[in-house]
Amino acid sequence: MNYKNITMTKDKKVALVAHDNKKRDLLDWAKFNRVLLAHHSIFATGTTGTLLEHEIGLTVHKLQSGPLGGDQQVGAKIADNEIDFLIFFWDPLEPQPHDPDVKALLRMAVVWNIPIACNRASADFIISSPLMDSIYNRIVPDYDDYRQRTVQ
Ligand code: PGA
Repeated sequence: MNYKNITMTKDKKVALVAHDNKKRDLLDWAKFNRVLLAHHSIFATGTTGTLLEHEIGLTVHKLQSGPLGGDQQVGAKIADNEIDFLIFFWDPLEPQPHDPDVKALLRMAVVWNIPIACNRASADFIISSPLMDSIYNRIVPDYDDYRQRTVQ
């Protein structure tokens, strides 16, 4: 398999998403890391984004609410190189009506090799990485091999 680089700039495009029982966790995390987040572009699903704006004063590019298509919008942005990393506090104890979308979003993050954090400890490690504030070349499989595959 061949590989390609996708360059992430110093200022990252960050997606923040939290299920209802995890929103308080995400808000606390974002509040604690407000200064570190300040120079990045923040994207969020609808309800998470509204809370981040009101409670923390972050400027947020808000998408649809998750169950109304927001998770899929984040996934599409990852595929279009419009999101550099994902903080996604999903709820392991509560079934979600949009479970297939949750799975699809996590899958897109792996397909495009973007960093993802699904809990606070992982988010702490990511936000405090020196790579957050430097240019980083993400190695991604060259999907041209897949695009040009022979189909019977
Ligand atoms: P919400 O969506 O921020 O609109 O609540 C989160 C999700 O369930 O993906």
